[in-house]
Amino acid sequence: MRRLLLSATVSLLAVTAANAEVTEADIADDATITTQVVTNGMGRHLQRFSPLDKINKENVARMVPAWAFSLGGEKQRGQESQPLVKDGVMYVTGSYSRIWAIDAKTGREIWQYDARLPEGILPCCDVINRGAALYGDKVYFGTLDARLVALDAKTGDVVWNKKIADYKAGYSYTAAPLIVDGLIVTGNSGGEFGIVGEVQARDAETGELVWTRPVIEGHMGTLNGKESTMTGTLNATWPGDMWKTGGGATWLGGSYDADTDTLVFGAGNPAPWNSHLRNAGTPTEGNTGDNLYAASRIGIDPKTGEIKWHFQTTPREGWDFDGVNEVVAFTDREGNKRFATADRNGFFYVLNREDGAFVAAHPFVSEITWASGIDDTGRPIFNEANRPGDPTAAADGKKGETIFAVPSFLGGKNWMPMAHSPKTGLFYVPSNEWGMDIWNEPISYKKGAAYLGAGFTIKPIFEDHIGSLKAIDPTTGEIKWEYKNDAPLWGGVMTTAGGLVFTGTPEGEFKAFDDETGEQLWSFQLGSGIVGQPITWDQDGVQYVTVLSGWGGAVPLWGGEVAKKVSYLNQGGMVWTFRVPDQVASN
Ligand code: CA
Repeated sequence: MRRLLLSATVSLLAVTAANAEVTEADIADDATITTQVVTNGMGRHLQRFSPLDKINKENVARMVPAWAFSLGGEKQRGQESQPLVKDGVMYVTGSYSRIWAIDAKTGREIWQYDARLPEGILPCCDVINRGAALYGDKVYFGTLDARLVALDAKTGDVVWNKKIADYKAGYSYTAAPLIVDGLIVTGNSGGEFGIVGEVQARDAETGELVWTRPVIEGHMGTLNGKESTMTGTLNATWPGDMWKTGGGATWLGGSYDADTDTLVFGAGNPAPWNSHLRNAGTPTEGNTGDNLYAASRIGIDPKTGEIKWHFQTTPREGWDFDGVNEVVAFTDREGNKRFATADRNGFFYVLNREDGAFVAAHPFVSEITWASGIDDTGRPIFNEANRPGDPTAAADGKKGETIFAVPSFLGGKNWMPMAHSPKTGLFYVPSNEWGMDIWNEPISYKKGAAYLGAGFTIKPIFEDHIGSLKAIDPTTGEIKWEYKNDAPLWGGVMTTAGGLVFTGTPEGEFKAFDDETGEQLWSFQLGSGIVGQPITWDQDGVQYVTVLSGWGGAVPLWGGEVAKKVSYLNQGGMVWTFRVPDQVASN
């Protein structure tokens, strides 16, 4: 009798769980299944385009809150998460490695999980998290002590918890993990501490490592617990032992292009910032000083972790122009399969999806100083006078020549994702117009300490704005329209078949623009700055739009004169969900 009862209970649970499971097909088709959002980027191509048009240019002015949810506590720092939605449940990550499951229709909490963080974590750029991943019956997210946690999506109970890297050496984790065919694929954060960027693939069920791929030349990869191949060629582009602490953090995570069966990850700046220590300021014979594969996009075989191709946006990098920004797969007007990526260095690149080969590049911010353009091979045409000077050339050997460079090290565009509309063919790019004083200093590596060898202060370059949302034609580089914002933009963008472009501002305004003209059609004050990533989905026939508010991120911590300018902005931590009511009282 007891045995019978037990088996009945088990099968009932199995049926319930089956409803909520996220399959490879759900992930592959996420861009077109409008009742869910189960991928970072709203589809594997990262277009952040929804085919939904129930909310559109005609009715968006009537959009109002459906519910709001507080992340609570005293941990109100930058909220950069992209929520996920499956079967009426929303999964949201928050500052300080917290995650919630929320009823997507009402905003009622289902469960909350707080990671227990050790003393001495070393997040460089605020205690943020950019989102979770869903697969099978689990929800996954990374934590600030560089761990990856798998939770039961129904209960929030821990299934497994694995170490990605040593937080004491400066590693952390903030990106949304990536799911590809039963693997969970992650990068790492910590590029300002002389860590080594790496991509890791694990069995999503057990958390066991399948392969690892460091992204700095000279380091060995692994496959099934054994050494596989060396990344690049030892000392081809790095002098001496500098590659051992060479940076290249893969901190923004990656994407998967199913058409070419390729993972695409970006690698951050080479370490340290002082490029003269890496031979990048003055390359010598037999060593280019390019410092591969830092400041690059890298195509990786998902089965073996082998590098298939790379494209380095900023060889001989010397301005903290991380090469991590998201790579969006799209089809151009002639039907060519392309990638687009808007780099920290101020140029918008189009690459061939088959092999990552350079197609074209156009500047997307004004007054770029460090390069006069990009040549036919995709290599920058450097302005050598705009490289921060070598401190060993200074009289006291302590401070190299200071230069004023545009963009600032926080980039023409930083982490905040752009959107692409296949309807208009345009990219909607959240950018910033700013520059910096920057100089180099001597530095040597010390585990767990900042490894920069540079000093800097960011400054605005225009009186009336820093933030600039631009609609860009990827073929010509033409800027079709621009929205200028006083504070730097730091939140993601989404576009819809309803002809709308959504984004938020640090001033707390969540906005909708006309995708063709840039006319502002709607705005709503969310009480704290918006650095989150909007999503939209259909629940029981109603279209909802969600975004987090909660000011923070890198600007208040690293923004120099700009940080002072925006120091009045208040912190927060809310999930806001909107809809257009069916009926509005008419009298
Ligand atoms: Ca960096």
